[in-house]
Amino acid sequence: LPPLPNNSPVGRLADGTFSRYAGVARFEQLPISKNIKKALISKKTQDELRSKFVSMTDIQRASLPHALCGRDVLGAAKTGSGKTLAFIIPVLEKLYRKRWGPEDGVGSIIISPTWELAGQIFAVLKAIGCIHGFSAGLLIGGRQGVATEKECVNKLNVLICTPGRLLQHMDETPNFDCSKMQVLVLDEADRILDSGFKKELNAIISQLPKRRQTMLFSATQTKSVQDLARLSLKDPEYISVHEES
Ligand code: ADP
Ligand code: MG
Repeated sequence: LPPLPNNSPVGRLADGTFSRYAGVARFEQLPISKNIKKALISKKTQDELRSKFVSMTDIQRASLPHALCGRDVLGAAKTGSGKTLAFIIPVLEKLYRKRWGPEDGVGSIIISPTWELAGQIFAVLKAIGCIHGFSAGLLIGGRQGVATEKECVNKLNVLICTPGRLLQHMDETPNFDCSKMQVLVLDEADRILDSGFKKELNAIISQLPKRRQTMLFSATQTKSVQDLARLSLKDPEYISVHEES
């Protein structure tokens, strides 16, 4: 492949064939901003995440070309397959392309089943995204009081939350505004549903802008995941990566 220009369109072409980004193997070949490419291989990232991100994993290769052109994605892949970057990169790239700034408020919401997993996502977001200067926050309850969160929640560009706490802010925090939110991520959707958060998720989704990109990741495809997918996704790409064994 010849070198790819930055920010060129990806995805399916008008005649239905798929663009040359489908099947590329390395992050460097993706049409993403230079800053993200640099962050993926920087010394700082290597120190913080103990990985240097050069080749994509299967789920990343399969989903990033779709997600980067704004499509909804329903991704299934087992734990440890690299799903975090499969959604962090499109979130950052979307906000970057829209020149999202401090005044623009909440641009993306990432929902995770536990505060522990939310913390891991936050670490990846910080390592890859800090270079853009977006602000991100964890809304996970516990450790820090809901009052502290209420003060800063509208100033954050990316929210990483557990469903209960996000809904609490939607219900209780005056002026909590996610009307401009661009990208919703439901990570480990099967676990969120297994933990009994179906009602909370439905309530959250009903309060978010209809015009948005949604990425839903799950290790398993249960009936309740399919129900959630029907409710939250529009014409999604189905991406399922299973290892041959
Ligand atoms: P999942 O969410 O699917 O369980 P993670 O996103 O947590 O997986 O990734 C699992 C591990 O693999 C992490 O340590 C992460 O740093 C590493 N990893 C992810 N993608 C890559 C990649 N393309 N190259 C090398 N390591 C990677
Ligand atoms: Mg994960």
